[in-house]
Amino acid sequence: MPTENELREQLAACTRIFAMQGMIGLFGHVSVYQPETKRVLITPGMGSDKGGLRPEDMVPTDLDGKPLDGKTGPPVEWPIHTALHRARADALAVAHLHTPHATLFAIAKREFCPVTLQGAIFSDGVPLYPEAQLITNPQRGEALRKVIGDKRAALLRGHGIVVVGQNLQEVLYAALVLEDDTKKTLQAATLGEVGTMTAEECRAFGAEIALERRAQRAWNYFRSLEARWDRQPGTGRSELFP
Ligand SMILES: [Zn+2]
Repeated sequence: MPTENELREQLAACTRIFAMQGMIGLFGHVSVYQPETKRVLITPGMGSDKGGLRPEDMVPTDLDGKPLDGKTGPPVEWPIHTALHRARADALAVAHLHTPHATLFAIAKREFCPVTLQGAIFSDGVPLYPEAQLITNPQRGEALRKVIGDKRAALLRGHGIVVVGQNLQEVLYAALVLEDDTKKTLQAATLGEVGTMTAEECRAFGAEIALERRAQRAWNYFRSLEARWDRQPGTGRSELFP
């Protein structure tokens, strides 16, 4: 079981990597949950520079969003995180992002289907939370939880995405894959009809790979890149969104 200090360090690193990749900026937040202590650690809200977050910047709360010992409160959409942490034993880490490409699927009336082998982790689909609103109270958090069910991610209409995982490594990997698959879908569509992966192809690929190992390798790779990142804006980070 990781200690709180280890989780703070991982959460800061994960968020800096999202910033480097242009997947988080003015908006968006990431959290991790410790079931043994029932403490949520979440990144600070709108206005904080996600590309420079340190372990001590993380905001600890309980499952009702109450700040535990920080000076600042959590981001206003904290119920996204607590609803999922509370209900799902496999949702120990949660990211809410406004990524450039996946968010387009939350706008266009088009269902997401995996188009690459990596995208097979989303073969169960990525459901749409239909209300165009911020998730700022527990009722809306619960409604989102029902929409997402036991899936790995959801789209929020006119807004962004939510990705869950067993740990931050898995959330990082899954969010990177979702963003990449949505980007490739859009790019491939300019060439003509898009060929999507069948459920059987997804199952076959899923049976051949170990997600945990892939997620850990991706984590090691991006941590290495992040360590020598020059802090200049990544793709999209200089824009208002994400
Ligand atoms: Zn949002």
